[in-house]
Amino acid sequence: MPHSVDIPKTQPPAFPDRCIECGKGSPGATLTCSASTSAWKPLKEPLWKGWKQEVPVCEGCKGALRRGKWLGRLVFVASITVTLSILLVMLTFSPSFAEGWVGYAALFGAIAVPLLVGQAIFTPSVEFSGFADRLVFNFRSPDYAKEFAALNESVVK
Ligand SMILES: [Zn+2]
Repeated sequence: MPHSVDIPKTQPPAFPDRCIECGKGSPGATLTCSASTSAWKPLKEPLWKGWKQEVPVCEGCKGALRRGKWLGRLVFVASITVTLSILLVMLTFSPSFAEGWVGYAALFGAIAVPLLVGQAIFTPSVEFSGFADRLVFNFRSPDYAKEFAALNESVVK
């Protein structure tokens, strides 16, 4: 369950001076995070305009986070490939498999399982979205969310 804090878009967000991943003080490095696509993006902003945010991390976690992100993607692509291959083999050798709910359930599984596996391996410590007039940050750590909210004169929801 993420701990969500929203702040006005006009206000540059202030982060606590510690690593967002391990909590180490004065981390000395940052990691660039991109906003997830929001359905409520204002029309006056170009579609391709993404919100980027520098988030404080220590050097150790920076490398681990980058590797985790790529590993998550790799596992996602690998499991989709494997699941679709199995599906293809089953369809080739047993065409009646595609009839009825079993085929749909298998297709759903082929998409949902890799997504869940990828998320289990890589849970980001922060995610954020841009809305019409505010930015919403979702933190994994409730303590970090509280500190962030206090620094930005907001509250944890
Ligand atoms: Zn760290």
